[in-house]
Amino acid sequence: MEKQLKQNITTVAIIGRPNVGKSFLFNRFAGKAVSLVDAEPGVTRDRLYAEVRCGDKIFYLVDTGGFYPGGGEGMDSMIKNQVEFSIKEAGVIVWVLDAKDGVTPVDEDIALKLRPVKKPIILAVNKADNISRMEDTGDFYRLGFGEPISISALHGLNTDVLLDKIITYVPESEIKAGEESIWISVVGRPNVGKSSFINSLLNDNRVIVDKEPGTTRGVIPIPFSFEERQFTLLDTSGLRKKNKVYTDLEQKMSVWTRRVIRRSHVSILLLDAQDGVTSQDARISDYIWENSGNMVIAFNKCDLLKGDDKVRRKYIDFLHKRIRVSNFCPVLFISALFGQDVFTTISTAKDVFNHSRMRVKTNVLNKVIEETVKKHQAAYAKGKHLKILYATQASVEPPSFVFFVNDASLVKENYKRYLTKVIYSHFDFSGTPIQIFFRTRKRRKFYADGYSP
Ligand code: GDP
Repeated sequence: MEKQLKQNITTVAIIGRPNVGKSFLFNRFAGKAVSLVDAEPGVTRDRLYAEVRCGDKIFYLVDTGGFYPGGGEGMDSMIKNQVEFSIKEAGVIVWVLDAKDGVTPVDEDIALKLRPVKKPIILAVNKADNISRMEDTGDFYRLGFGEPISISALHGLNTDVLLDKIITYVPESEIKAGEESIWISVVGRPNVGKSSFINSLLNDNRVIVDKEPGTTRGVIPIPFSFEERQFTLLDTSGLRKKNKVYTDLEQKMSVWTRRVIRRSHVSILLLDAQDGVTSQDARISDYIWENSGNMVIAFNKCDLLKGDDKVRRKYIDFLHKRIRVSNFCPVLFISALFGQDVFTTISTAKDVFNHSRMRVKTNVLNKVIEETVKKHQAAYAKGKHLKILYATQASVEPPSFVFFVNDASLVKENYKRYLTKVIYSHFDFSGTPIQIFFRTRKRRKFYADGYSP
């Protein structure tokens, strides 16, 4: 039976005036964790999310301090936005102050707004780069939020103390270590059924509410677990009103969609089975692939498809022609409206994520390459034959292969494509873009006094 459980993950919001070092702090904790920006440029909010794991605890870290156009008025609204957000959505608030500036009038304003908030509020006094600044926190006590923690986000001083303090407010996670969340985005043209897909998946009819028209695309990561694996879903459909006429921006691929694609482990590209495959679909898939994104393609609205497997075969053939990389991706037929194969799509996304981390043993790879070369030698170039000496998988995510050859300048694009196909046909990298590199390896000679290149 399909099982689904939503997890509540604590959100920790970083707030504070501009230039106090919120982003430095965010980056220090976030490390390489997935993060994303939560608004489109030109609108008033810009938020970064990261999933932070610390031992058995996991939380979402949110940098609320984005780009706010306007002068003094902008500053007011910035503070209002940050405080409002942290009051509404955060479990813990980390308020960053500047040790060099001391308490400014703006900080006093923030204190006033935070005073009635019944949530843990931690003061982090940043830029405490030396001992005297470390110790000189007296001024900040008077804000009335307890003991400030002096840190230097830039140099990493005391940030572990701050992290220890944060996690005292974060409950232990049920997620086992090493099983980090797979971040999945659901992308596609307007009306292909992204919201329906997410609604069907979460099964709670998440209603789309446009709280502040024109300013907010309040897209937050949606954590859930399925088949004992943790996922985080990123919705790209935004908070658009259902019957709104699509703007030019939405017709094209929005900046928001691009960012979400770049930040997720796997993108589920939804196509509308009624429309077949459009050039816009091709553009989105190319973008995913070119950004080393893993991809699952799903034809949605299959409840409206008449006919049997033959019809589906035709769809796939057409897809392969229109979107070349689809040859290397799983393709599904689903109905978001009726919940048909929605969970299969998530399982497939999980498989694709695992493929992106798969390693092929060097001896197994070389056996395949040897046989391949016997069947299909590269054409002559510059009066020479290209010789593959050996190949090895150098890395994962994306899986990258290095072919050591007698002369890398002899490699032609079509031979590279051929080798790519060979790798896909022998190893299950379905849905993940592999990379191939060629390196020239010169013959080495042995000298009496040892080995010399
Ligand atoms: P979005 O713009 O990609 O988020 O698309 P929506 O989820 O808002 O869906 C657009 C329209 O397509 C709505 O009227 C949905 O009811 C409809 N729709 C979505 N999925 C399906 C499906 O699987 N079958 C059918 N028949 N209609 C669907």
